[in-house]
Amino acid sequence: DTLPGDHSGDHSSREVLGACYSDAIPRPAKAPKLVVYAAEVAQLLGLPAQQCESEAFSHVFSGRTLLPDMQPYAMCYGGHQFGHWAGQLGDGRAINLGEVSAADTLWSLQLKGAGRTPYSRHADGLAVLRSSVREFLCSEAMHHLGVSTTRALSLVLTGESVTRDMFYDGHPQREPGAVVCRVAKSFVRFGSFEIFAHRGEQALLKQLADYTITEHYPQLMDGEIGCDTYVRWFTEIVERTARLMADWMRVGFVHGVMNTDNLSIIGDTIDYGPYGWLEGYDPNWTPNTTDAEGRRYCYGAQPNIGLWNLVRLANAIYPLVGEAKPLEDALERYSEVFADTRSADMAAKLGLAQYRDEDGHLIEDLLTLLQQTETDMTLFFRRLSQIDVPLLATGVDWASLSPLHDAYYVDVPSAVRQQTCEWITRYLRRTQESLSLAGESERDRKARMDSVNPKYVLRNYLAQVAIEQAEQGDYSEVNRLLNCLRNPYDDQPEFDCYAAKRPEWARVKPGCSM
Ligand code: AMP
Ligand code: MG
Ligand code: MG
Repeated sequence: DTLPGDHSGDHSSREVLGACYSDAIPRPAKAPKLVVYAAEVAQLLGLPAQQCESEAFSHVFSGRTLLPDMQPYAMCYGGHQFGHWAGQLGDGRAINLGEVSAADTLWSLQLKGAGRTPYSRHADGLAVLRSSVREFLCSEAMHHLGVSTTRALSLVLTGESVTRDMFYDGHPQREPGAVVCRVAKSFVRFGSFEIFAHRGEQALLKQLADYTITEHYPQLMDGEIGCDTYVRWFTEIVERTARLMADWMRVGFVHGVMNTDNLSIIGDTIDYGPYGWLEGYDPNWTPNTTDAEGRRYCYGAQPNIGLWNLVRLANAIYPLVGEAKPLEDALERYSEVFADTRSADMAAKLGLAQYRDEDGHLIEDLLTLLQQTETDMTLFFRRLSQIDVPLLATGVDWASLSPLHDAYYVDVPSAVRQQTCEWITRYLRRTQESLSLAGESERDRKARMDSVNPKYVLRNYLAQVAIEQAEQGDYSEVNRLLNCLRNPYDDQPEFDCYAAKRPEWARVKPGCSM
């Protein structure tokens, strides 16, 4: 209520001026059918499990039924897409149902794929089962990996089909329509501020900033909100974004569309479109086929693009601060926080009790090696905890590294085998020293490594297999994957098939955003 809205009720695509959001009614789904829900998210919201399996639940979370207090709306925002200002974007296929207060937290609930809004431009406002399974599974997987993210409560089929012309034969395809209910503390994006700055709507810019600080950064408030508050707020966003990028790098997640409309103001991972998971370690890999040339959004570019997006945000809120220097100083924090977090994360992945500057070489040499031969990042780090110090006594040769052999997609050339043995020798010497300084056993080290190197991630082909079965009406694989990804760091023998290297048939499986 505190922010100005557009209450015209007009759903036609248009420029919306003078408002942060527009009232928007979800399109009633014809025959809602629940595919999967996340029990933990239901619990966050205080929803008992049996309610999630009710007909009423699938009706509400497909947009067919509105509850009495709901005043659904779509948010107005803009964004820089692929480096260029794109003007007004907004929630083109997302409709917010409202907020739920549970255990001192206010959660926003948002339906993705529930029909057109004033921000839909020429598109239909709908989502298909394929993209919805990808969003649902990945947001939950990321949460359980310890990465800040929007959550997914439910995935409901609408009972209608949607036309998508994305297939290689060039013919439009009918695909099942679906709606995911996303849950987050905030869905406000960098682009939410950019749009008002670009239009010169300064009062709105200030209202939205003050609202965001009051609601989501209350710890920064001491009396009146002033220039200084905005600077501290921006500094906090810089730090959160830097830590988020380090988390993505740590688990091998590639977002694929890091446009400013897809960056969250609270540092959540948001908008799971053409994302992908790194398999062979390759900083140049991007899941976004439209970005394959420029590689703007490849794995290795993510930290830099995070900063680039923050510079856009700094420009947008500059009118609130009135001078550039404090914002530039805040931006300086980015590389410091990223570097510190990244070093600590890499040391933890290697099982070192502490990061020391000399470890930088050890880490860089490893990443170079991994890149030289197609090596599965997830498997390599997970298996590394099985290579231990006693090997130094007997001597490291290729055969003694058998736990790692599964991590390679290709036959490893003898020169690389040799270099890998040399690297492992250096690594084990450093490990030996670290263990003795920290008074740790090999078991402690393995436990610590396993708690940061996931065994199970949402490998691109795993999501694809679950989607294909769901499209045939069998939702068991989606549910099984969700169960597995709930505990990505635990050994779960019943799910070992999910911890294997990508099979050869799945080598090129570009993600898809629609
Ligand atoms: P994205 O690249 O998915 O972040 O989307 C950029 C903009 O396009 C956002 O404003 C989306 O809401 C909008 N959009 C994407 N897909 C659709 C769709 N099927 N219908 C309407 N708007 C869409
Ligand atoms: Mg988006
Ligand atoms: Mg999207």
